[in-house]
Parts: sequence; structure tokens; C-alpha cells
Amino acid sequence: MWDHLPDPLPFFYDLECPECKKRFRLTEKDPILMELICPNCGHQCPINDFVTQDAILYELTLARKKLEKAFFQAQRTGMKKDGKNQEG
Ligand SMILES: [Zn+2]
Repeated sequence: MWDHLPDPLPFFYDLECPECKKRFRLTEKDPILMELICPNCGHQCPINDFVTQDAILYELTLARKKLEKAFFQAQRTGMKKDGKNQEG
């Protein structure tokens, strides 16, 4: 079962069959199912198994950028009201 849907949905990525390693793409017209069937060899397995490393890395990069931005903003906000760097 899905805990959550990947965001964005994997239309945008190449999917790779774990069996024959053939890459293909979904279109927005294709229903998102829990299992996919490889159009090349007919291998059927959960959609997660078709997601490529590239797509995962891309998602991680995006997530990291979001975090860095949030962190940077929080830091700036923190600096404004912060006066505790006093010495002596
Ligand atoms: Zn295949």
C-alpha cells in the first residue's frame, strides 16, 4: 500500500524496468497503479521498483535545497533578534 504518493508523480521521470533494464515513461494519461507492467518485457512489479536512482537523487536534491533555504531563512530571522554574542 502507498503511505504517500511521490511528489511529483513519476510521469516526469524515466522509469527503468528492473528485469530488462529498458527505460520508458508514463504519460499523464496512464493511470497510476501500485504495480506497473513493463511495456518491453511484460514484467510486473511495484512502481517503486521502476523508479530510477536518477529520479531518487533528483528528489533528494530538491528536498535538500528546500531544507537549506528554510534553514537559511531561519538563520537570518534568528540573527535579527539575536544579541547574545557579547563578550567581556
Ligand atoms: Zn522489462
